[in-house]
Amino acid sequence: MALGFTNTFAGNPLDRRSEARGDGAAWTADPAALALVLWQGQPLIEEVEGAPRIAYLAAARAFELCAGVEHSLFMGLWNATPVFAVEHEGASDPSAGGPLEGLGAFYGLRDLAAVLPGVETAICGAAKALVEWRARHRFCGTCGTATTAADLGWKRICTACGAQHFPRTDPVTIMLPVRGDMCLLGRQKSWPRGRFSALAGFIEPGESVEEACARELKEEAGLTAITVRYHSSQPWPFPTNLMMGLIAEVNDDQVAPSTDELEAVIWVSRAELRQMLAGEHPDYGAPSPIAIARTLMEAWAAEG
Ligand SMILES: [Zn+2]
Repeated sequence: MALGFTNTFAGNPLDRRSEARGDGAAWTADPAALALVLWQGQPLIEEVEGAPRIAYLAAARAFELCAGVEHSLFMGLWNATPVFAVEHEGASDPSAGGPLEGLGAFYGLRDLAAVLPGVETAICGAAKALVEWRARHRFCGTCGTATTAADLGWKRICTACGAQHFPRTDPVTIMLPVRGDMCLLGRQKSWPRGRFSALAGFIEPGESVEEACARELKEEAGLTAITVRYHSSQPWPFPTNLMMGLIAEVNDDQVAPSTDELEAVIWVSRAELRQMLAGEHPDYGAPSPIAIARTLMEAWAAEG
């Protein structure tokens, strides 16, 4: 069921059964249960008929090879089959001479997202975000004591003060500023040569999405937002962000870019933007197809 535009990393097909995780021991013990394995935030991948796929292991085997059920996270049901994510800890690659030798290889999710089926990318993204959260919440944020997993990995409870900790998602605004037939794009110094993209920034405590968008536009480009409209959102597991995709009408084209944040900004027409998206612009390139920034650019390019 599509509820709107499905960006890369959205569209996870598993039934999360969030209401039943507290009573989910039967899923952990189910002999049919499967697990994907992550090491250093990277999923274990096998090749099936020349194409990359998640290398699912029997969950019991994955628990055994990767330091136990404590390291498992229940991802949901695929039809009736429980699916877990299991993190393998340690500095050395367990698929190279380690316990997972011969079962696949680990690849970074940014690269995989361009080649895995979308539903597998979404499952891997959810697993990575959960693993990242878990790694940052081994100790209680209230009293500093070690925490222990509950609800099949979706909750951590402090062993001293009893505080409960839940997976975090950090919201980010990402916006395309537009005025008439022009839109503004920015670039960061570290990006590949010629690449320009939408602007982005974290939403701060006490801000609405629209207010954060307006603030970032002002800080990064010196622009004043008049209207802000929502397009779509994207879970972005680097490490646990939720990108809120917006198109913002601004009141003039006089930019004052912040050199702390951006190396350069440019105004481009819809026609130029289409050239960029087609890879045919002589000077400028667009972001990767996995990025919501590109979604926003494509959506606005198609409007005129
Ligand atoms: Zn505590």
